[in-house]
Amino acid sequence: MKNTGVCPKCGGKDILRIFGAITDRSDGNRPPVAVSGISVPRAHRYVCCICGYSEEWIDPKDLPALKKEFGRP
Ligand SMILES: [Zn+2]
Repeated sequence: MKNTGVCPKCGGKDILRIFGAITDRSDGNRPPVAVSGISVPRAHRYVCCICGYSEEWIDPKDLPALKKEFGRP
């Protein structure tokens, strides 16, 4: 959806873009980044307004910090 503007599940083109959403750890399905003083990453969320499918992308600016914190040595 991020690149195509089309929902991969239903083909819908009514895509809602929510920029800068703060990720949380409430469902255990996101990187546990609020540890060791690292800031919570920003995420861009894309939601299909037809079927409700959503996907989330971490802001590229936060990737180096995540890699540093959780990357393999
Ligand atoms: Zn959809």
